Amino acid sequence: MSKILVTGGTGYIGSHTVVELQNAGYEVVIVDNLDNSSIEILDQITKITGKKPQFYNLDLCDEAKVVELIENNPDITGVIHFAAHKAVGESVAKPLKYYRNNFFSLINLLTAYTGKDVNFVFSSSCTVYGQPDKLPVTEEAPVKKAESPYGNTKQIAEEILAEAASVNPNYHIISLRYFNPVGAHDSALIGELPIGVPQNLVPFITQSAIGKRGPITVFGSDYNTPDGSCIRDYIHVVDLAKAHIAALKRQEENKMSGNFEIFNVGTGKGSSVLEVIKAFEESTGVKLDYKIGPRRPGDVEQVWGDVSKAETELNWKAELGLEDMMRSAWAWEQYIKDHPFS
Ligand code: NAD
Repeated sequence: MSKILVTGGTGYIGSHTVVELQNAGYEVVIVDNLDNSSIEILDQITKITGKKPQFYNLDLCDEAKVVELIENNPDITGVIHFAAHKAVGESVAKPLKYYRNNFFSLINLLTAYTGKDVNFVFSSSCTVYGQPDKLPVTEEAPVKKAESPYGNTKQIAEEILAEAASVNPNYHIISLRYFNPVGAHDSALIGELPIGVPQNLVPFITQSAIGKRGPITVFGSDYNTPDGSCIRDYIHVVDLAKAHIAALKRQEENKMSGNFEIFNVGTGKGSSVLEVIKAFEESTGVKLDYKIGPRRPGDVEQVWGDVSKAETELNWKAELGLEDMMRSAWAWEQYIKDHPFS
């Protein structure tokens, strides 16, 4: 079975993808500098799959190290590139930190594969659409001016990938535009580990429910949506992980049209903040303490994806619903209360 390099493989989405790759029979090599993850995740993955992935603690911004890694592992056939800084607020305060990390790591990887055949899957984001004019948003919708340096790194990265692919026919690149990944593995052994106060709704909900945070603030109830709160396309992280396997399969089976493609990865269904709160309460039996606050600057009103391209061409479809997302996120929050990570 082929060997896949997973950068950022001890992180949230990366760790779930490593599990799905191993379950599908792939051999996995992880590269992560543990900047935003814990080494203990390797043991957690091993508990789930029974297979310990090979691990390199390495900063992908170090070009010489990246080249050496690729030269030492000539049997790697595919790369799934998750490693990046991702905190929108921090990126506004420290733009150079974000441009440096997210671009250097990407360019070093692509450079190391110059002249070599490689399947490459990139973590992009629905943030590239801003507030779309039409919903559900398709891959053809115009990319809007980024609201943050983080968002800009995703837009420019896609341009870098498209241009690199156009002159390197042996690169086979798929960019996956994720909607809002939430939830955790069914085992509750891996999940999201936000540092500091979570900026995203679901980790804030679970931390509030367990008593780590105070009441939840719903940022705005006067949006032009049915209940007035913002709408997002939440996708279970395990469904999202599986989309990466589907992308690799498409590359391996030479089914790509051209050598650079983009896919939306969501459920195709929008849920409001108030609906998510209700789904959490109903699926866990835990009552939440929440209040309505003012709008938060930079929040898009509503976005959900048209995922028909992924369904027909990747042969992938999200299977898990909001209840599964809430139940698994809650189980994970309870697990880490009893098993804190260093
Ligand atoms: P995460 O922070 O949990 O995982 C990223 C991992 O990359 C971390 O383990 C970190 O230590 C590692 N890393 C960062 N810079 C590195 C470097 N220079 N060298 C080696 N390792 C490095 O993030 P995540 O939520 O799993 O996100 C994965 C990818 O998906 C990111 O590219 C992110 O921008 C993208 N994405 C995430 C979301 C989301 O809501 N979580 C949404 C859309 C896109």
